[in-house]
Amino acid sequence: MTREEELIKNVQFVESALCAACQKAGRNPQDVSLMAVTKYAQDKDVLTLLDSGLIRHIGESRVQQAEKRWTSSVFAKYKTVKHFIGHLQKNKAAKAARLFDFIDSLDSEETALALNRTAPEGKIIRALIQIKLTQKDTQSGLPLEEARKLVKKLAELEHIKVCGYMGIAPQGASEEELHQIFKQVKTAFDQDFPGGERYLSLGMSEDFRVAVEEGSTLPRIGSRLFATTLEGL
Ligand SMILES: *Cc1c(COP(=O)(O)O)cnc(C)c1O
Repeated sequence: MTREEELIKNVQFVESALCAACQKAGRNPQDVSLMAVTKYAQDKDVLTLLDSGLIRHIGESRVQQAEKRWTSSVFAKYKTVKHFIGHLQKNKAAKAARLFDFIDSLDSEETALALNRTAPEGKIIRALIQIKLTQKDTQSGLPLEEARKLVKKLAELEHIKVCGYMGIAPQGASEEELHQIFKQVKTAFDQDFPGGERYLSLGMSEDFRVAVEEGSTLPRIGSRLFATTLEGL
């Protein structure tokens, strides 16, 4: 199998697993979009998937690296929806506001205001509030109740449209715990974003099936798409 074939096979594998999870939960697969997390991926691998037409949503977690890649002439010609999923420092807000369609990791009013202030004329940036799903101090995001307050606070910003939640599940959680954690976020999501354009971004390579069963609309997949595996494994 060539590397190109392997990459296409990976996307197809993930897409069919997403479909199966939807089926299991009685959901419409059209309500779920795959986000390809390209932060560790080689340029040529990303280009393979872009050329295949199989991916549209892209996730990057470093502003500098993303800028270098996506403003280059090779990449800029593709029509993509670019999501920032890393921790956004306030001093990078202007750059991020220019480059990204979505900021999926918003967790402070200050950063939201910085984005709003520096956004290009006429641009509306979609934002998801990142919810902290572990007690670990190293993870970004806000506890659920604070996240919900922030949604209300940011309702009136001219250039920012808050339209959902993002979360990273704790490492090593059992499947049962994952179900419970994701369910809790989904309940808040349905209450706080009852209609219109809305996104719930839960699930990564290791836990996206459970996340989609619990209602994720935008799972973020990196290693399952791009990691190099031994042939035949
Ligand atoms: C890197 C990253 C992912 C992708 O993780 P994988 O386990 O490689 O699929 C998803 N979400 C966020 C916020 C990330 O930083």
